Amino acid sequence: MPTIRDITQPLEAWAPPGSAQDYDNVGLQVGDAGRDIDRALIALDCTPQVLDEALEIGAQLIISHHPLIFRRLSSVTADGFVSNLALRLAESKIALYSIHTNLDATPGGVSFALAEQLGLTGIDLLDGFDESMLKLVTFVPDDTFEDVRSALAEAGAGRIGDYDACAFASDGTGYFQPGDAADPHIGTAGGDLQSVAERRIEAQVERWNLRRVLSALHDAHPYEEVAYDVYPLQGKTLQAGLGAVGTLDHPLAMPDFLARVQSRLDAGSLRWAGDPDATVERVAVCGGAGSDFIRTARGAGADAYVTSDITYHQFFDVLDNDGTPKMAVIDAGHYETEAITEQLLRDYLAERFPDVSFERTRHRTSPMRTFTGAEQSLST
Ligand SMILES: [Zn+2]
Repeated sequence: MPTIRDITQPLEAWAPPGSAQDYDNVGLQVGDAGRDIDRALIALDCTPQVLDEALEIGAQLIISHHPLIFRRLSSVTADGFVSNLALRLAESKIALYSIHTNLDATPGGVSFALAEQLGLTGIDLLDGFDESMLKLVTFVPDDTFEDVRSALAEAGAGRIGDYDACAFASDGTGYFQPGDAADPHIGTAGGDLQSVAERRIEAQVERWNLRRVLSALHDAHPYEEVAYDVYPLQGKTLQAGLGAVGTLDHPLAMPDFLARVQSRLDAGSLRWAGDPDATVERVAVCGGAGSDFIRTARGAGADAYVTSDITYHQFFDVLDNDGTPKMAVIDAGHYETEAITEQLLRDYLAERFPDVSFERTRHRTSPMRTFTGAEQSLST
């Protein structure tokens, strides 16, 4: 039976926790990573109803997108929604693992799933993260070059877009004089200056993957002291970013596009701004709170941008200098634009762990409701 750690390892290779936003709190929130599991419940939010459901179906793990413990907890008592739920999880021996802005940031993550749900194809990141790439340079004696090169690649160095193991090697000469206390791979302690045929290897590494790559370098490199340099790189990465952008198979008139968004996301209502007579073909999306990226979506040539948590004044950002809307912005709701995350996680894990049951919660975990006036009753 796999442990919780076994389950979360591939998730973290796909959506590295280090790529989460600084304010975020991702990873195991409650529980013992070494515990065996055969059943997990997946929910956008961990709520008391979700915990009850986990108990009912015998799940040992809840995987949530939104972290329950977000701000610092000074105590774990029955007082307070978060604290009480954390206490109940611990008392019930049900672990909670959260995969939040790291899953937003990864290609194939939340926004890509939303884009697919809306029928987009040719999906790319809306915008790559700035200044998150580093260049690692190291120097290896000829006879162990292949060992070190492959160890770096296996640890994830040299990923550029759809290419893995990208590196450059050049020949040169390394010089060193072992001190009296040294344990040199070549030469002797306190011996003469050595000159060795070495190869310089250089490869790009994501900032959040540096520690893993350096650890692989130290394990594979034969020298007692490994010489390496790490340089920050300017520009954007293709490995992580925000939102997604793609194209509809055929252009839709605005009312038809709005109807598609509403029905595919099961949104009670949409708040939107834009030209009702426009045609939509290129679409940008950002699951959850994406109001800061309206201009980015415009810059990407989108006819429409689907996200949530847009304020009144942010709707003005779609207007051109003369006040005409240049793009539609559609606020379809935070829960509605992210609910697909449950299925995304379920599919990803079920494929890798056929002996573990992964279930989506039957609860709609959003506390928000839409009142349309047509309701027979307000109870759910
Ligand atoms: Zn969210």
